[in-house]
Amino acid sequence: MLTIALSKGRILEQTLPLLKRANIEISEEELSSRKLILNTNNENVKIIIIRATDVPSFVQHGAADIGIAGKDVLMEHGAVGLFELLDLNISKCSLMVAATSKEMLDQQTLKIATKYVNCTKQYFQQKGQQVEIIKLYGSMELAPKVGLSHCIVDLVDTGNTLKANGLKPLEHIIDISSRLIVNVASYRTKNKQIRGYVSKIKGKL
Ligand code: AMP
Repeated sequence: MLTIALSKGRILEQTLPLLKRANIEISEEELSSRKLILNTNNENVKIIIIRATDVPSFVQHGAADIGIAGKDVLMEHGAVGLFELLDLNISKCSLMVAATSKEMLDQQTLKIATKYVNCTKQYFQQKGQQVEIIKLYGSMELAPKVGLSHCIVDLVDTGNTLKANGLKPLEHIIDISSRLIVNVASYRTKNKQIRGYVSKIKGKL
């Protein structure tokens, strides 16, 4: 039995065609159900549906053999105890610093609102800039408008969300895409099976 951890939304939508090419398919009925464990056309493969930020933990602890998670989520998690086997080149975007203007970044201690505390800390540490990080779980764009922070660090795709909230993308931290991750022990014990699926997905990327 092979368990694959996925999250609903963007990643699931873009992963389904890749899995299909590896001959793993999930019926419409399963997908539209509220079940958290989905059957596939292959009785040896099941899919678990969890929050995107939980995917690395499920894989790390062996509750799932394989998972698909954004590089942003992996960097925040630390991704210890798992292998990042493949860049799937899906759900692409950038992690960026955004503010109303460039001048806003000229602060002795820059106040930053973000969900990405570890990535932000690391980026500004490398730059040697003193920061105060305010951890938020959503609606980051609001923070500079109401004086909670000088800027934000968030994922940017089209830039429309920033624009709609009067913010500009100012500094590019890193390119983000979804990665296929594997539990270290599973990679050893189910090596042939996992490598078979990975090569089929990879061959079609
Ligand atoms: P956009 O307006 O297209 O720049 O999208 C920005 C919004 O979508 C932000 O709220 C981001 O957190 C979210 N977002 C954009 N791309 C991704 C992605 N690949 N994965 C998860 N969230 C994303």
